[in-house]
Amino acid sequence: MAIRNIIKEGDPILTKVCRPVERFDEKLATLLDDMYETMVSGDGVGIAAPQVGILRRIFVIDIGDGKIEFINPKIVKTKGEQEGSEGCLSCPGEYGITVRPMFVTVNAYNRCGDKFTINAEGLLARAICHENDHLDGILFKEHIIKKLDPSEF
Ligand code: ZN
Repeated sequence: MAIRNIIKEGDPILTKVCRPVERFDEKLATLLDDMYETMVSGDGVGIAAPQVGILRRIFVIDIGDGKIEFINPKIVKTKGEQEGSEGCLSCPGEYGITVRPMFVTVNAYNRCGDKFTINAEGLLARAICHENDHLDGILFKEHIIKKLDPSEF
């Protein structure tokens, strides 16, 4: 495993729409392992492939309950609303309050190519929405309703 360089805001890579993964191979497994290690080293709870310069529909989340890998994810249902603070590994030092759905249902594939469904709520739902946005070139800052000082985060 290796820690990869995190692409920062301002780089056009972060504004691109990512393509689906077609091959569930060793290269994908290495990328997923590297993404997780990069996320942990950056003290994040989620990371999307474009943040390490790979324009594919992949993200990894660990909100403290264990790692979940999402490949070719699709949010198929959302419900409710939550307000909460967010930051991003690609936007160091910037935090804000955003509004996200309270519940999301997401279909995705694991690294072996098996399809799964997760019904997420609260922080996990928020993280899924944040990371899924990265796959469409959208940063969390577009959702900020109130900026926060880093000391308030
Ligand atoms: Zn982010």
